[in-house]
Amino acid sequence: MSATPLHILQSIFGYAQFRGHQLAIVEHVAEGGDALVLMPTGGGKSLCYQIPALLRQGIGIVVSPLIALMHDQVDALREAGVAAAYLNSSLAAQEQREVERKLMAGELDLLYVAPERLLTGRFLEQLDRTEVALFAIDEAHCVSQWGHDFRPEYRELTVLHQRYPHVPRVALTATADHRTRDEIVERLVLQDARQFVSSFDRPNIHYTVTQRHNPRSQLLGFLDGHRGDAGIIYCLSRRKVDETAAWLAEAGIEALPYHAGLDAATRTANQQRFLREDSVVMVATVAFGMGIDKPDVRFVAHLDLPRSMEGYYQETGRAGRDGLPADAWMIYGLSDVVTMSQMIAQSESGDERKRVERSKLDSLLSYAEATQCRRELLLFAFGETFHGPCGHCDNCTQPPKTWDATVPAQKALSAVYRSGQRFGAGHVIDILRGLDNERMNQLGHDRLSTFGIGADMDEKQWRSVFRQLLAAGLLTTDAEGFGTLRLTAASREVLTGKRSVRMREETRPVRRASRRRDSQLVTGASLGIEAYEQPMWEALRALRARLAKQHGVPAYVIFHDATLLAMLRALPENEEELASISGVGEAKLKRYGRDFLEVINAKE
Ligand code: ADP
Ligand code: ZN
Repeated sequence: MSATPLHILQSIFGYAQFRGHQLAIVEHVAEGGDALVLMPTGGGKSLCYQIPALLRQGIGIVVSPLIALMHDQVDALREAGVAAAYLNSSLAAQEQREVERKLMAGELDLLYVAPERLLTGRFLEQLDRTEVALFAIDEAHCVSQWGHDFRPEYRELTVLHQRYPHVPRVALTATADHRTRDEIVERLVLQDARQFVSSFDRPNIHYTVTQRHNPRSQLLGFLDGHRGDAGIIYCLSRRKVDETAAWLAEAGIEALPYHAGLDAATRTANQQRFLREDSVVMVATVAFGMGIDKPDVRFVAHLDLPRSMEGYYQETGRAGRDGLPADAWMIYGLSDVVTMSQMIAQSESGDERKRVERSKLDSLLSYAEATQCRRELLLFAFGETFHGPCGHCDNCTQPPKTWDATVPAQKALSAVYRSGQRFGAGHVIDILRGLDNERMNQLGHDRLSTFGIGADMDEKQWRSVFRQLLAAGLLTTDAEGFGTLRLTAASREVLTGKRSVRMREETRPVRRASRRRDSQLVTGASLGIEAYEQPMWEALRALRARLAKQHGVPAYVIFHDATLLAMLRALPENEEELASISGVGEAKLKRYGRDFLEVINAKE
């Protein structure tokens, strides 16, 4: 009997159906075609080369840039009963020889290799004497020198095409933009490859952007809905990472720090715990994330603005790879705009680059201040048209109220102008509010016509106005990075009354009387688990944690949350019922079936 793609999907991976373009890709590659696969994070790229490799004669060679990623993938494949291995610098000489022996003996289905290893003469000679089913080039955007992940060795992968013209190649990436796509095609000689482009929408992610009022209590309030969940909290600076991780730990949350300033051992240890356990919150700079393919990250929080929409999409995209509900949550304030502008201004980059960075920051700001569906804007940034409301972002579920802010905007712009466009928002707000102090007197600003014309609004309200003026491009900060405010061409239209300004009403934070008590917090709340289901959910998670420890693999490699959740809902009584649950393949059924059935059917 020859296996079909569906048969392999069900028996080995335990999934009922293919998603999106998966089947088309699998069939195309299994028949020997080249493919370029663009799929968002969590879309299910791995199966697109794993299944063809199992269908075709010979071994599938997977080029992967990250050692941690290789380890996870190989662990997961072995758990599913696939003969997989990796070759990279983490192996001892002895282990390496053993893998090579298996390769030559035809005992492997899939072999993951680092690009620099693949390109060695020794490895290529071994390949010459091996039957190769296909080459998969994962994270193919690493060929692009414009991206953050540029890997020079990726450019030499053309050797695969030259040396093995009849072996199909499949290149995969989650990077959406056209420039990168074209570069991959050109650099990897994939002009004849069929392109499979998926939508970059991540329907299971709920997007929220809120103004920062009291960051700590806002964050704790958000985390209340994520008790027991794994998540990532991004901060701009290393110091803020350390501080945030420390006070979260004090508040009883399992938080660990991660940034480039920590020594390598601590970084690795923290990353390992995040990957292996199922409820660690990683507080990190952007140094953390590339290659983290943990599927059950339930939230990504930003305590500071990311650098660009691409960055925001990539970082938030690390949430909910398993397709279950996940949150992308961000708080930001006026000071972020100033800090980010300063960072750009003071960087070493040339003027052209700085202009690009500023315009990236601007689009992110308009996203943050938007009153329309967030998904619409996010996908628009990647050239996709999506018509909201999506019903699954803050602006859709709680449409913001707007108000006519033309007069305050005129006052604000006028105060900036009258004080000579030489001051930051703090001082201009003091002028508007008519603060009488020594500095004001020295500068003579108490004699300006705008002094005190904004006394009817408090400082918070004014900060909101300035933030929104910046976001709308009606004000800008100086290019030198001192944080001083300048008018733009568009400001004049407002000042002369040719243009009116609507702003979103500041949502006053609902003051929590106090945080919910521990006993009221339900783990798995973000997945819709009810209080009465909690004991079983906890029991299933505890068993998974125990097995993961025993086998030395991450918890999700045993079973994903989605699979555990399906067990919780179906409460299977026997192996047959258990086998019908998505994510339970033959190998795992044999290995863990009995343990899970025991927990599910235990009489208390
Ligand atoms: P990507 O590499 O595109 O980010 P992965 O290949 O890691 O995504 O897949 C994301 C998650 O979705 C994995 O946990 C994977 O097991 C799961 N998955 C992939 N395809 C399917 C499918 N057809 N049915 C159910 N789950 C799937
Ligand atoms: Zn929406």
